[in-house]
Order: sequence, then C-alpha cells, then structure tokens
Amino acid sequence: MAKRGHPLQPEEKQRIIKLIEAGYTQTAIAERLGRSRPTISSYLSGLPPGTTGKGIRQAKDAAEAGAPKEEAKWSPEARKAIEDIAYFARRYYGCIIMPFQEEGLAKIMELLDTPQREYVVINQAPGTGKSMFFTRIVPAWLTVQRRDIRGMIGSISQGMATRYLEALRNDFTRRQPIQPSSSDIAAGISVDAEACLVDDFGRFRPEAGGEDSWTQRGFTVAQLGRRPTPHKEQTWIAVGAETEYIGTRVDIAIWDDAWSDSFTTVESKQRFYRSFDMVAERRLEPHGLLVLQGQRMASDDIYRYCLDKRAPADDDDDDDLVLTGQMYHHIKFPAHFDDRCEGKHDKRIAKPYPDGCLLYPKRVPWSDLRMIRDKSMAEYQLLYQQEDADLDDCLVKEIWVKGGEDADGSYPGCWDWRRDLCQLPEGLNRGLSVCSVDVSPTQYWAVQWWYIVDTGVGNVRYRYLLDLEGVKMQSGQFLDYDTRTRTHTGLAEEWMARSHKLGCPIRYWVAEINAAQRFLFQYQHVREWQAKWNCQILPHTTGRNKSDPELGVGQLGKLYRNGLVRLPGLPQNVGGNAARWKSLRLVDEGKKWRPGVKTRDDQILAQWFVEFNLPKMMTGQQAVPAVRDDIPSWVQASA
Ligand SMILES: [Zn+2]
Repeated sequence: MAKRGHPLQPEEKQRIIKLIEAGYTQTAIAERLGRSRPTISSYLSGLPPGTTGKGIRQAKDAAEAGAPKEEAKWSPEARKAIEDIAYFARRYYGCIIMPFQEEGLAKIMELLDTPQREYVVINQAPGTGKSMFFTRIVPAWLTVQRRDIRGMIGSISQGMATRYLEALRNDFTRRQPIQPSSSDIAAGISVDAEACLVDDFGRFRPEAGGEDSWTQRGFTVAQLGRRPTPHKEQTWIAVGAETEYIGTRVDIAIWDDAWSDSFTTVESKQRFYRSFDMVAERRLEPHGLLVLQGQRMASDDIYRYCLDKRAPADDDDDDDLVLTGQMYHHIKFPAHFDDRCEGKHDKRIAKPYPDGCLLYPKRVPWSDLRMIRDKSMAEYQLLYQQEDADLDDCLVKEIWVKGGEDADGSYPGCWDWRRDLCQLPEGLNRGLSVCSVDVSPTQYWAVQWWYIVDTGVGNVRYRYLLDLEGVKMQSGQFLDYDTRTRTHTGLAEEWMARSHKLGCPIRYWVAEINAAQRFLFQYQHVREWQAKWNCQILPHTTGRNKSDPELGVGQLGKLYRNGLVRLPGLPQNVGGNAARWKSLRLVDEGKKWRPGVKTRDDQILAQWFVEFNLPKMMTGQQAVPAVRDDIPSWVQASA
C-alpha cells in the first residue's frame, strides 16, 4: 500500500475513531485501513491518556472537522470572507453588519499594524449589536487569519468575560450554521448563516492536548501544519477587571462594556480605574492594541477616564512633557449624525450612515431616539450620541472646563494639565492661601484649599485649587488636641503644617457657622491653634445668600466660563497624584447643580464659601499682586 509510512489522513482518523467506538480492536482496525498496528496505536496513544467518552468525542470532532487548512487550500468563499468582514459576518454568523462597523474595524486594523502599543476607545450607541461584533465576529475573523494570535476578551466581571469567551469558543467547534431568531430575520437584521468556520478553515480545537487547552476561561486553537500547539500561550483568554493575575501578554485586548451603574462611590470608581490600568493596559505586547468599546454611561465612566489620559511626547526630554497628546484614539458613532440629517427617517427605507443620518435605522430607529431625546436631552446626548452632556441651566458646563468653542463663544478652559495637587502655579508666589470646609455631622465633609492670585492685570484673579478632600469625619479627625503630648492633630493641623512647608501659609479657614460653631469656636485648643498658626476662622452663614443673584452659588459659573478657576489636572499615568479625580469631584457637582434642585453639593458649596468671603479676606490680607503683563505660558498651553 502506498499509504504506508505517510501520516494518517483526516478521513482515516475519523474511521479509526468510529471503529474504536464500534468495538474493533487495534489490530482489526489496522487491517481494515491497510495500516500498520503501531500507526494506529500511536495515533490513539497521542490522545489524552484514558481517553474515553468526552475525549473520544473531542478526537472525533477534530478528526471530522479536518486538519487546519493552509491558506492555499481555502475555498473562494473563505477567501472572500477574509477580504470582506461584512461577508464574513453574514456567512458564518448570519449577521448583517453596518457600514460604520466596517469603518470602525478598518481603523482598528490600521492600529493593530503599527509597531507600537496603541489604545483606542470606541463609543457607539446601544442596540447596534456591538458585543456580537467585537467579542465574536472580530476575534474569529482575526483568528482564522492568524492562528498564532494571542488575545484577551475583557469585561466588567470575570463571569461576563467568560460568557463571551464561551460563545466564541463554540463558534470554533460549531458544525451547524447559526440560525438567528425568526423575528430578527423578519426585521431584516439577520439571515441564516451559510457555513461554519470549521467547514472553511479546518478544525480549531486541538486534536489532543487535554481539556486544559480548551476551557471557558481560555483556549488554544490548533496551529497550521506540523507546528505544535503552544499550550502555555492561549489564543484567547477571558478576563474580568477584578481578575488578579494574568500571566500572558496579548497582541490584542478587546474590552466590551466595561462600566456599570453599580459604581456609586468615588472610591469604587477609582478602584476600577486602577484595576483596568493594571489588567488591561499592562498586559499588552509592545506592538499590541487595546480596544475599549461600549456606550457612554456616565460623565466619569471608564471611557472618559481613558480618553482623558495624556500621552507623554515621544522625545526623551522629560523636563518638557507635552501632555496635549491623547493616549487613546477615539472613534465614536452617535445614533444620529446631526450634520448629515435631511429628515429622512422612515425606518423601512432610511439608509444607514454614511448614506443617511442614522447609524442603524432598523435597530435604533428615529422614533425611539426622538422619544428619548424629548424625555431627557442629557441622557440622549450621553447614552445615544456619546457626547458628554450638559444639563440645561447647569452651573458649570463641560466646555467651559475643557476649553473650546460653541455657539456662545470661546472658552480658555480650567485645567492645568501639568499641575499636580499642592503644586503652586509657577512664578506666582504672592497669593492668598485659604481653606474652606463644609461641615457635616453625619455625612461627607468637603474641605478645599485654594490659592488666590490677583495678576494685577485687568482685574484678573485666578483661583488655584491646591487640594480637595471629601470624607466622612468626626470633628476630632478634623481638629483635635492631645493633652498628653500637647499637640494638635487632625486634617486641619496637617494641612496647616503642609502649607507652611510649601511657603504659602493658610491665612483663613472659612467654615459654615451653623454646624461649625458647635465645636470650632468653643474649644480653648482651637483658639490656641489659630494663634499658633496665625490664621483666622471665618464663620460663614449660608441662609438666603445661597440664591442671591450677585453673591450666590450661581456666580461661580462665570469663573469657570472665563477660566479663572484653575484645576490641577496632571494625569495619574504621568505621575499625577489623583489631582484630576479630586478636581472632577468639584466639577461634577457643578455640572449637576441647578438652583432649587436637590443634588449633592458639599464641594460646590465649599468653593462658594471662599468666593463669598473673598472680598473680606482680600482686604484683610495685604495681598501684593505679582504684577505681570503676561499669563504664564503653561496656563495658555492648558487652554
Ligand atoms: Zn436625521
């Protein structure tokens, strides 16, 4: 027989398995196939030890699916599917993808091809089938082209990521083409799939290698030709943001819907940001690509967090960090393209973007969008249009803080991108150093430290935020006296000492009197503390002042609008010390604050205490303005 000495062919392996299952001995099989007995037994012993039942089925599946196909053996359909992701999605998934998805993918592929690490945020409106596209179709498409790719499917929890990965893994063993629901077919968003991946590309499940290479949390696909399957390096792994340790580095990490409404506290959000940095960003190969995709959900969600990251410039000049470059590319697909709108919204005939104004008219029709928009403009802007939303008549607008232009004018912005917490503005050392505190007996205390600088030019007065705290405290944690050691303790004492060390001693503490008087003014030790540090405590009464048109909280808006509030914004990824997140606490309250509406406002009130009492403090202080006719260059740069 000519076969002798040649490796077993896939159809022979199929027969061996069938005959074993039917109870034939190895000798009998050898005779029937015209093969030597050692060939048969060596094939069978290559299967995992003790292979029976499930193991035999695995070997059978693998044998039936046929060996992984070299590109030269691909059918014309398979080739077309590689060229054309839309055809790929239809052929194997019965999924009709939209032009915007192809556009997004083309950009991703460009980034994947660059030699350096790349990061991209993709925001698109909900209901457009994005999880299916990003966690199944795209990974499968990449894998058939490059079986040695290593990728990560990430999500908010390990459980969610595992579910995504299981679906992807099943696509690689599926023998029956996918049949979508009849309602999806009727709606014209799906069709019956034409084929399975294994039909066109051969098997993906390794022939032998045990169950550990094919689990729900990670699996390795069979490699082409004689190359052994690298068991250690899995093709795809499932990772949740809380997953502690991941050994491998990946070529591509795809994070899907990595944010949740369940993050309610600043602390839980910060914890998530940090673990995302560790798990998602740090596990990329030097040429790797991180895709973070999903719909915007909140003004401080993970997408905003990543989009705010600044990339250090490529040159090595550390002294002159250019932080205007963004670390993440941003691709966004709103549900409705206002600039392309011609009012053609009929669900049955409306063409999707880029021919029409709707992203996916059949899934997210205009009738739905209009309803959502009429209910809440802010929600519509953020959730559907992927834009940071401003509430109507809010105190502080996003664009005032960020800087830029809109129909009403242009704004310098409030961020000092290079300034960290407790960092004085460069060259301006003659300001007034003041703190304010919004005392709450049961809730969060808001404590802020501001540095007020009159430039002496055209009444321009900057308010530099130096630090901010929002914590639950007992009054003793704020300021106390230890009679044994005869020292003051607490946050106020620490901040005071720190201000002297930095050469800008705090002169005033503004505190709301109603609550504050109960302890701040009654103790001998507090009076001694004031004398020791040469500072004054200014009682503030809120009362009716709060809504005063001239002096009330509302006056803060114009300070932000004109860029007179200076916020430390040095990003954490370039050495910042949570400056940005502390600043955002204040900004976020400002963005939600509206007259007569109950929102959390302890930080915004603390800022207002300073503003309200500023005339008094500025006259009390011999504030010698540092006369300069120029605005420091880094202030301009941040605008
Ligand atoms: Zn339109």
